[in-house]
Amino acid sequence: MTQPPPKISVMSLPTPTQNKPAANAVATDVVKPSNFLRQIIESDLANGTYASRRWGGSPGDAAHHAKGQPDPAKIRTRFPPEPNGYLHIGHAKSICLNFGLARDYGGVCHLRFDDTNPEKEDTEYVNSIIDSVKWLGFEWNGAPDAAPYQASDYFDFMYRAAEYLIEAGHAYVDEQTAEQMRVNRGDFGKPGIDSPYRTRTPAENLERFRQMRDGQHEDGAMVLRAKIDMGSPNINLRDPAIYRIRRATHHNTGDKWCIYPMYTYAHPIEDALEQITHSICTLEFEDQRPFYDWLMARLIEGGLLASPPPHQYEFARLNLTYVITSKRKLAQLVYDHKVSGWDDPRMPTIVGLRRRGYTPAALQLFAERIGVTKSDSWIDYSTLEGCLREDLELKAHRGMAVLNPVKLVLTNWDEVFAPGHLEPCSQPALPHHAHEATQGVAEGTEPPPARQFSIGKEVWIDREDFEEVPPKGYKRLFPGNKVRLKGGYVIECTGCSKDANGQITEVLATVVPDTKSGTPGSETVKVKAAITWVGVANGVNAEVRLYDRLFLDAQPDAGGKDFIESLNPNSLKVITAIVEPSLANALPGQNFQFERHGYFVADRVDHVQGSKPVFNLAVGLKDSWGK
Ligand code: ATP
Ligand code: MG
Repeated sequence: MTQPPPKISVMSLPTPTQNKPAANAVATDVVKPSNFLRQIIESDLANGTYASRRWGGSPGDAAHHAKGQPDPAKIRTRFPPEPNGYLHIGHAKSICLNFGLARDYGGVCHLRFDDTNPEKEDTEYVNSIIDSVKWLGFEWNGAPDAAPYQASDYFDFMYRAAEYLIEAGHAYVDEQTAEQMRVNRGDFGKPGIDSPYRTRTPAENLERFRQMRDGQHEDGAMVLRAKIDMGSPNINLRDPAIYRIRRATHHNTGDKWCIYPMYTYAHPIEDALEQITHSICTLEFEDQRPFYDWLMARLIEGGLLASPPPHQYEFARLNLTYVITSKRKLAQLVYDHKVSGWDDPRMPTIVGLRRRGYTPAALQLFAERIGVTKSDSWIDYSTLEGCLREDLELKAHRGMAVLNPVKLVLTNWDEVFAPGHLEPCSQPALPHHAHEATQGVAEGTEPPPARQFSIGKEVWIDREDFEEVPPKGYKRLFPGNKVRLKGGYVIECTGCSKDANGQITEVLATVVPDTKSGTPGSETVKVKAAITWVGVANGVNAEVRLYDRLFLDAQPDAGGKDFIESLNPNSLKVITAIVEPSLANALPGQNFQFERHGYFVADRVDHVQGSKPVFNLAVGLKDSWGK
């Protein structure tokens, strides 16, 4: 039976600068609101909690760091992805948080691959994670282009620490079956029962553990467990398994090991070897913290790890409406061909968001705006879109595109000008550049060259910009009405032609002489609307991919629902649009505002500059989410 979905409580966050993008639209320039993590770090810095730490220049044990210098990094944080999939928007939150805190407090953030699980990991994922963190604008491990750390490099130490725990009487080899172990673990209301193997001597345990390492036992025949307390109210302290036998080839260590550490054992050690001060993770690890602290205390006692140990803090993971952020489920979308790949512009992966037109600054702004809390909530998707609009408003070059074209014929053109005449026109690429943008993102840059295009007897306009019988309040083209062709001339509509089915084939108008935009006297003829257009003579056909939300349900996978069922069958519509020449010359990945339509990006994969323009809809101009 599936559970009823939990009640949705969606946070709509204030977007203070939504309509008026501020010059400081880049996250790093914004005054940061405090949060519980910032308070903890500030108090640790004030109290000198970590002032005595030394840094041996690389990760290592207590002796290694003791030989080093006082740590030049005031704090150390880390982002520790498992390389078993592509990073998603939730990871982006964690990246911005960890790297942002290190940056703001004179610290260093580590990029570490948590690659202790040999079966699921792959170098394809390793490379894409490195690219994504770099693209988001961060440097790791204290130097440009430093090699990321890898948990698998610490396998030798982890093994040594396990032998130490055995020798000190803190770990034992358990040969119960998995089923017996499960039953004997008890549950919330029932304490666990000691394993019959729990009282073996350290020497016996050490011998068996070495046999495990040497491949003398079958996969699953026995595990190494920490010896803590089978009666603990926290089930995670009931002698958790710390090493298991698994004959699997590891992408880094190959076949060197047939035993692998469990995540709960490996993770605290990774943090400690790297001298992490603040180990920030999501809330589901809260119950693991007592084991984290137990392990640190034992290994410091044994002189293996440096003191003071790292401390774990938990924050609420990001839940975004209409989005799933489970790597396993995202993988299912890819492998079942529900999307074109990890970088499908509908995917919430960082590579997908990037291909959709998201910018690093927009994602940083988003992370900043949603902040960190200790309780789970849902963030409305419009918050993410608002951040992109805010970033692109000042940065994205403008261009005109006609998405649903119909031809407009200026019937008096030949008399006013000459048959075949093309009149050159020009418009700024960045209309705001001269004003706000000079202090903002475009600081110090020259305004981009103006866009050049031309107008002739025939232009393309959007079908929606003409009505034979105008509805009330309609200000665009209808017989007898005047509008401005943006950046061109004022025209007066005279009617239209239709085919046998009554479908409009051409809109007819006359050009009003001496009204060319930017020429003296051009404003004397007053109009109520300006419409966008592209000249037939130099418009270029472009493939435009109009994306909508991937899921129809705001919480596609909540409460055990089958998220595949809520896939939106209309999440992609491909059209042929006509764009002005400057757009056809876009660089792959370049963002634009198609005036009056929204923000678009030249597709990174399929767009060919000059010859095959392909654009993706990034976000509309206004918030239409949920409407
Ligand atoms: P998944 O469950 O999708 O596999 P994960 O948490 O296992 O995700 P990891 O690669 O282990 O993925 O995560 C790396 C870091 O990113 C962790 O510190 C984790 O806490 C953080 N993280 C993952 N998902 C989110 C999220 N939705 N919001 C915030 N942080 C997240
Ligand atoms: Mg994980």
